Parts: sequence; structure tokens; C-alpha cells
Amino acid sequence: MKFATQAIHVGQQPDPTTGATVPPIHVTTTYTQAGPADHKGYEYSRSSNPTRDNLEAVLAALEGGEACAAFASGLAATTGVFSTLRPGDNVVAYADVYGGTYRLLEQVFRHWGLEARYSNDTSPESFTKLIDRKTRLVWIETPTNPLLRVLNIKALADVAHNAGARLAVDNTFATPVLQKPLALGADYVVHSTTKYIGGHSDVVGGAVIVKRAADMEPISFFQNAAGGIPGPFDCYLAQRGVKTLHLRVERHVANARRIAEHFENHAKLEEVIYPGLTSHPDYEIAAEMMEGPGGMVSMVIKGDADACYRFCQRTRLCSLAESLGGVESLLCHPATMTHASIPREIREARGVTESLVRLSVGVEDVEDLIEDIEQALS
Ligand SMILES: *Cc1c(COP(=O)(O)O)cnc(C)c1O
Repeated sequence: MKFATQAIHVGQQPDPTTGATVPPIHVTTTYTQAGPADHKGYEYSRSSNPTRDNLEAVLAALEGGEACAAFASGLAATTGVFSTLRPGDNVVAYADVYGGTYRLLEQVFRHWGLEARYSNDTSPESFTKLIDRKTRLVWIETPTNPLLRVLNIKALADVAHNAGARLAVDNTFATPVLQKPLALGADYVVHSTTKYIGGHSDVVGGAVIVKRAADMEPISFFQNAAGGIPGPFDCYLAQRGVKTLHLRVERHVANARRIAEHFENHAKLEEVIYPGLTSHPDYEIAAEMMEGPGGMVSMVIKGDADACYRFCQRTRLCSLAESLGGVESLLCHPATMTHASIPREIREARGVTESLVRLSVGVEDVEDLIEDIEQALS
């Protein structure tokens, strides 16, 4: 089955008792057994639940992995991958990592004995230099947030594997519609399903997908042992989002491309950052790794911080809000919002200045979006 068919049919078998075409949401916490140890594979909903199983099945299929574990949030899913590591191990990550992932590594796992090292450079050589015999995991996001650098998953998989480590890719920004990390060599894919997969800004969730089923054992164990699971309603909403993921992403990309091209040389902008522009440093890698450059566009506003704050207050359609990947366009000021938990010097050294804005381009009419951004800039 091809992607669009999988998105709609995997984990969506009609209900055997009633024929309901959309499987019911199984809100039960427990399952009645015919006799001791005589059950239908379900005992208690922290351990497993049919609605969650359906979501896990479709996400595994879309990423081309053998298994998936759904979590209550993207960060709970990230924690699931880190839980496979042990005190004394280290993780090598790209520096421009999601703020919450950085906080998790620095303020939770560092105390626990996991060391994180950050490459300031996207090149595989720079990652190689940071790796030693205690490195068990290479962690990347691509495209990165908010600077939209695109990393070479194939080359980094080789770097990790040559050192006996695993490669995990946070594929939240690209989605499996545009990028398939497992096929490019990664071992784990992580999603914040809160973003494009849910797609309607109304459910928080996460998932880990593994290339090999054996790698799911410790993660499934952790999912049940630590209990950071999504409820059945949330699983249902995420799965409903999956059914239109391919349609939405196609429009997100078309709109983002139009906006990036329209504003590329605008007098009020210092820079437009979009991996589909030839001016982007990773234009070629993006063309090789991805089916399309994504729905996120970042911009550097000319002038001081105040000019940027004024811009953020003047858009009418694009709401100033955290998060991304929903049908509505959202504007984010990373320095005060998503990246506020990163110390200022570190943040600015990485290019996340007060003048940077990140636009999650929605699926509205693109002419309306262009008009909104134009009037806010002027
Ligand atoms: C939002 C996000 C996360 C965290 O996901 P939550 O669902 O908010 O916990 C992780 N990685 C990326 C790239 C994100 O955008």
C-alpha cells in the first residue's frame, strides 16, 4: 500500500461487533477476563489499549518502521528513547535542538548521569569529533528549529553506526510525508504528534517508531513502567489527523514556498530562511533528504528588537503563539517563546536573536497570508 492509502486504512478496521466503519474509542481502563489469565490480549489500559494500538500501527506504517509506541507528548516520547541509555553514557546532538529537548538533557538527564555534547556544525565530521566509546546515541532534528538547517541523515547514520551508536531523528518538522529517516539509515524516529500529525492544534502527543522490532522492547517496557501514555481520546484525535496528513502537508509546502519566494528580497527583511530557496545553505541536502522543503519559514526582521516586537503584534491572521503544524498559520518569536529556556548567550551564539521570527505556514489561502505579512511589515 502507498502512503495515502496507509494513512487512511492502517489501524482502521471496521469494528467486528457492530460494523462501525470508524473504530470506537475504547475508553475502558480494564478488560473483563473469561477466567484467570484467559483474556483477549488486553488487561489494563496503561499497558495497552485498542485505540492506542490503532494509532501506533498507522504511525509505524507511515514511517516504515516495525513498531511504534505512542506517548502523552513529544517530550515523553523523547524520554522514552533516552530511557534506553545508562548513567555514564553520552548523547551527541546538534546544537540547534528543540528547547524542551535541550532542557530535558541539561536539567533532567544530566543529573541522572547522562552527558550531552552538542555539535555547532551540521557536518558529519563535527559529530565524529564529539563521539567517543561512551557515545550510545546521536540525536538530531531536521529541519532544525527555528533556523531550518537540514542535516544529512544518511551520513550521520554512518557516523553513529561506525561508533557502535544509534541514530535518532526527531521528524516532527518534516513529517513522514516529506522525509523517511528510517529508510535513510536512522534507528529511531520521534514525533511530537502535537504538530503536523494531529494537525489541528487540539491534541498534545508523541510517538517513537523503530526500524527493528527488537529496539522497541526497552521502550515499550518504559512506556508501561513510567506510564506516560496518551489517553484514548487523544489517540483518536491524532489518528483522525493522520488521515489528512498528506493533503495538508502538500498545501503547507505550497504556501510556504510561495511566501518564502515572495518575501525573499523584501526591504523590511534582513533574511528569509527556507530550505527550498537556493540561498539556503542546505538547499542541496534538503533536495536529497526530503520530498519537499516543509511548511516552516523563518525571517529576520530589519531593525532593532523593537521593530520585530511590533511586527509580532501586527499580524492579524497569523496568531502569535507557540507550536506549529496546525491548519492555522502561527507566528513564533523563538527568543521569548520556544527558546526562552536556553541561556541568552548560548541562544544568540546559535543565531536565535531577538529579530528572528518563525512562521508555521497554515493551509489558508496564500494570498490572504501574504497580505497579512505585508501589512504587518509595513
Ligand atoms: C514540539 C516539539 C517537541 C516536543 O513535543 P511536545 O508534544 O510539545 O512535548 C519536540 N520536538 C520538536 C521538533 C517539536 O517541535
